[in-house]
Amino acid sequence: MGYSRSGYNLGMRVYHCLLVLGLLVLAAISLPAATPPKNETVRGKLVVHSGEATVVETSEHQRIVLDGDQPTRKVLHDPRVNGFEVEARGHFTAPGQFLVDPQHTRALVVLEHGKPKMITYWCDVCYIRAYAPGPCVCCQKDTDLELRDLDDIR
Ligand SMILES: [Zn+2]
Repeated sequence: MGYSRSGYNLGMRVYHCLLVLGLLVLAAISLPAATPPKNETVRGKLVVHSGEATVVETSEHQRIVLDGDQPTRKVLHDPRVNGFEVEARGHFTAPGQFLVDPQHTRALVVLEHGKPKMITYWCDVCYIRAYAPGPCVCCQKDTDLELRDLDDIR
């Protein structure tokens, strides 16, 4: 008799554990899915005008305003990237407004003959590579735009 009773308690305890576990799993599935927005990719030609927001013009002639973190913004305002075919990973913040993922995730690439290339800036004096345009951190010389293969970045 005592046996069956403890067996019942054990069964209830296991049932409760499973219930709690199930709720945790449900919470784990539903919570993160609700917060980060859907990841998307936009592709097209960069149109850089000084004093204006940089847009990417898709093959359907749709113009999407690009924004991003500080280094991405600097790249987007570099007149030398004007006309490049690019692919950007991120998400829409509003219709026609696209926020590029953080630069360290290599979310913005140039498509050169269909091959993804990273936009980098090279100082040929110091052999230092940067990921935003501007003077070299070491000698202050203006860095040169250089497109590099994603697996060939030193
Ligand atoms: Zn330098």
